[in-house]
Amino acid sequence: MHQKPDGDAMGSALGIYHYLKALNHKVTVISPTNWADFLNWMPSVEETINFESHKEKSLAVLANAEIIICLDFNIFHRTKHLAQHLANSNAIKVLIDHHEQPDTASFQFGISDTAKSSTCEMVYDFIVASGGKEKIDATIATCLYTGVITDTGSFRFPSTKASVHLMVADLKSTGFDHSMVHSQIYDQSLENRLRFIGFALLNRMEVLYEYNAALMYISQADLNKYNIKTGDTEGLVNYLLSIKGIRFGAIVIDRTEERKWSFRSKGSFDVNLFARMHFEGGGHANAAGGRSSDSLDKTIQQFKQIIPLYKNQLQ
Ligand code: 5GP
Ligand code: MN
Repeated sequence: MHQKPDGDAMGSALGIYHYLKALNHKVTVISPTNWADFLNWMPSVEETINFESHKEKSLAVLANAEIIICLDFNIFHRTKHLAQHLANSNAIKVLIDHHEQPDTASFQFGISDTAKSSTCEMVYDFIVASGGKEKIDATIATCLYTGVITDTGSFRFPSTKASVHLMVADLKSTGFDHSMVHSQIYDQSLENRLRFIGFALLNRMEVLYEYNAALMYISQADLNKYNIKTGDTEGLVNYLLSIKGIRFGAIVIDRTEERKWSFRSKGSFDVNLFARMHFEGGGHANAAGGRSSDSLDKTIQQFKQIIPLYKNQLQ
């Protein structure tokens, strides 16, 4: 899975883990980095190895792997320091992903489909297509459902096709508790996180009405003041798109090693293209990310200089 895995990355990995275990395969899930606390309830998440904190263990697993299934990313550099080890591995690499611009040459087999709501939906398709539908139990359903709701904004985004609802109907027939999943993901904030969101909306948001865009920026001091951890900033960018008329939301967070951008859009404005063009990033047409090694002030200035170029597209 990609670094700082989200619900879809962790859900697809654990979903396929439980499925392959049911077929008596020996399976290990490796995350390139740590992950958000709000994923820590997931079935067998405690078995997942964090490469950054357990490097030798991870490398031993990689060295013995016959097959490496790469989920929710399509180019090795999305796995940060794991990338060089994936590139050097002789194992068969299988791609299952829904992002734009797959680096297909790096994988021997795979499915890349940008029309899919989530990698979890693709794992479901894979299980069904390989004749394993009856193996989908409440545990697998719980994992796959997690990625579907996090990647579709709980069924809001246009990627939510009829196939998604049909799949969920099928998952639900396993008896898994979908309310529990929503509650675990969305209703476990600590007070400091809500105070932080209030602070950010009040003091760190600029609405650029001229461009139907909104910008938010978070400094390291802000993160420290509110004791903000991995995952606590998830979803913040969506507030920008909830403003009437706003079609493009951008947030930049000053992580120690880089300034990390998240871009979201509604309609035809292609943030994957925007992220690739200006901020060394990528993703999907309506949800993408990027980075900058400039200071926070500088990258904000850069954004403000670029945005007038898109005035027509944003109107
Ligand atoms: P987020 O803003 O939630 O971090 O990411 C939005 C989407 O863009 C996710 O599907 C994520 O995997 C992808 N993404 C985020 N950052 C990058 C990046 O730097 N490069 C690429 N290619 N995709 C990214
Ligand atoms: Mn995904």
